[in-house]
Amino acid sequence: MQIWLDGKLVPKHEALVSVFDHGLLYGDGCFEGIRTYGGRVMKLQSHLTRLYESAAHLRLTPPFPREVIEDAVQKTLAANELREGYIRLVFTRGVGGLGLSPFKCPKASAFIIADRIDLYARSAYDSGLAVIIANRPRVPRACLDPAIKSLNYLNNILAKVEAIDRGAMEAIMLNLQGEVTEGTGDNVFLVKNGQLVTPSVESGLLHGVTRRFVMSDLAPAIGKHVVERAVRPEELFKADEVFLTGTAAEIIGVTSINKEVVGRGQVGPVTRALMAGFAARIARGVPED
Ligand code: PMP
Repeated sequence: MQIWLDGKLVPKHEALVSVFDHGLLYGDGCFEGIRTYGGRVMKLQSHLTRLYESAAHLRLTPPFPREVIEDAVQKTLAANELREGYIRLVFTRGVGGLGLSPFKCPKASAFIIADRIDLYARSAYDSGLAVIIANRPRVPRACLDPAIKSLNYLNNILAKVEAIDRGAMEAIMLNLQGEVTEGTGDNVFLVKNGQLVTPSVESGLLHGVTRRFVMSDLAPAIGKHVVERAVRPEELFKADEVFLTGTAAEIIGVTSINKEVVGRGQVGPVTRALMAGFAARIARGVPED
């Protein structure tokens, strides 16, 4: 496996970052997870825009201009001969001292890993996922806006641990007002009486690229408009269908929440139609931005 690290492709065992990198010491950095289907990178521009926005929020000066990173993504895929896969693109704050100050780290680092990913078992796409509502709230926007895809995922990781402890595969997180935000690594939608709803960005969530793809393309293609608004957890329990979206997850149905059955306990017709629409779009050629 070849890793792109700060301008060079190197073998995996040589792709090392310093123990003084603030990405490691403090989770100081940002990243993207990107998919490639049939050798084409899906929504690369959306991911690059979000990465550079995350970096700007963190006042992290990108180590390379966008065009260089765009080219590096393609070079990493080519070097690994990967047509179907997952790309992890990371900016770290870089090497500094043991103090917090990011401005004592003279140069940020960038690396790109291209590999395969199977987030959920194939069978979960047929049967749907069991999820929980996490007791741990999502970090509020005022503290660390979840729209920033930072390297600090401990809020999500601890919610994921709650899910695993409770025999579920994913956790849905609420904000401090008790409204639904998102999963630990995916966005949430519900279907009620034929209408599609997803929590609005004001609730505090990552603006998912897949979420936007559903809203702008896949839902309209089946004659539906997605309403963005505050969502209470009770609505998820009473929904006809619930599903999650993400680059790694794609679109996946949720069939139980806190061990209570959602809808009829099966992946519902709207979710299936969107999943089919997603697969058809990929088969026709990866959607550009
Ligand atoms: N929320 C969180 C917290 C995530 O980590 C992800 C995955 N990047 C998503 C939502 C889904 O976003 P996307 O569709 O851009 O992968």
